[in-house]
Amino acid sequence: MNSSELFERSKLVAPGGVHSPVRSFKSVGGNPIFFKSGKGAYLTDIEGKDYIDFCLSFGPLILGHRDEEIEEVVKETIHTAWTFGACEPYSLELAEFIVSEIPWVEKIRFVSSGTEAVMSALRVARAYTGRDKILKFDGCYHGHLDALLVKSGSGLAGEPDSDSAGISRRQMADTLVIPLDDEKQLEEVFARHGSEIAVVAIEPLPANYGLLIQRKEFIESIFRIARQHGSLVLFDEVISGFRIGFRGMSDLFDEKPDLVTYGKIIGGGFPVGAYAGRKDLMDLVAPSGPVYQAGTLSGNPIGMRAGLATLKKLKEQNVHSTLKLRTQTFVHKFLHILNSKSTKQWGGVTYDSLFWFHEDVNDPIRTIDKIPSSHKEDFAKLFHALLSKGVYLAPSGYEVGFLSLAHTDEVLEKVYSALESIDLR
Ligand SMILES: *Cc1c(COP(=O)(O)O)cnc(C)c1O
Repeated sequence: MNSSELFERSKLVAPGGVHSPVRSFKSVGGNPIFFKSGKGAYLTDIEGKDYIDFCLSFGPLILGHRDEEIEEVVKETIHTAWTFGACEPYSLELAEFIVSEIPWVEKIRFVSSGTEAVMSALRVARAYTGRDKILKFDGCYHGHLDALLVKSGSGLAGEPDSDSAGISRRQMADTLVIPLDDEKQLEEVFARHGSEIAVVAIEPLPANYGLLIQRKEFIESIFRIARQHGSLVLFDEVISGFRIGFRGMSDLFDEKPDLVTYGKIIGGGFPVGAYAGRKDLMDLVAPSGPVYQAGTLSGNPIGMRAGLATLKKLKEQNVHSTLKLRTQTFVHKFLHILNSKSTKQWGGVTYDSLFWFHEDVNDPIRTIDKIPSSHKEDFAKLFHALLSKGVYLAPSGYEVGFLSLAHTDEVLEKVYSALESIDLR
């Protein structure tokens, strides 16, 4: 069986042949590759071909696939229990570690995905403020919960349009959407709806629609205006948490978010999410408070222990500074070679161990409308050229790339050689 045969079979039993849309290669064209295993910086497809992986499961694998130390912990855990549905020490250890390391995390609740984390955090914010409306920004992704699967509409500033079928008008009416990087619209939406806004939800480093690095002053103005109006601030750090330094983006501002959500890295490659923040807010959650939230597999011991081992390793080995330098060098060299092989002038941005390639433009891209219109097509060509040489980027031009600790200089040299052999002219 090769990948295209497996894809044909998959399409018969799963919508579009996949269990999450981007995996289908719809954005880049062609049939998706089916992988059978991963190790370090490499994925191996079902026919035995190796690829250097820069998608890394969309972010969780900051140590690479099956890091040896984490794998030991996972193996050990498999022989204890797979799930308890009861109290155990593993979630306690992970919670204590995070609470002791991150000052604005006074209490934390584990769930099983980033979506669940954000959904629950919004519930807490609404309960605390007694308000219904949520403010979000175009180009930020917060998972697939109804309340945030909306984008700005064509009508009044802040009025949303659905990003998906099946979202009720009632849900949409409670979500306000404005562009990133725009203090004026922020002021306006608060002038109009300030007393109704429970929480402003933002990816402090928007990394799900390209990498839209925000001005520090913009994020600071969110804190200022939200606080003036009694609204809470939720930093969705599902992608940036434990990746942008150990303490995430929240570390970079004087003001701290009231609520934070985590996912991806926090489970070391297993399905874990978390919402966290101020004690008085988190104490609203059942059983200590009236906000109901529960999970059969929450605090799963494999995810808890893999997560803790991952976070400890990140901290002890100072992984972030290593990765930051490596990513800068990588992107610099990559673009240099790429531009000698391509008629298009490519540029790109990095932020710690995240990167995003796009057509070279003069001004930094901070909002989705600044992304060049040919981006999707340009990226698809680059993607397939690299794929054929054994380099796997996330299969969409709107996803970012990641480096892991397993992406050593030796591995990256192989990427440069692969790039030397492509031709995009
Ligand atoms: C990935 C992501 C989510 C959703 O997490 P899932 O585990 O896929 O549900 C939410 N917010 C941000 C910022 C993310 O990057």
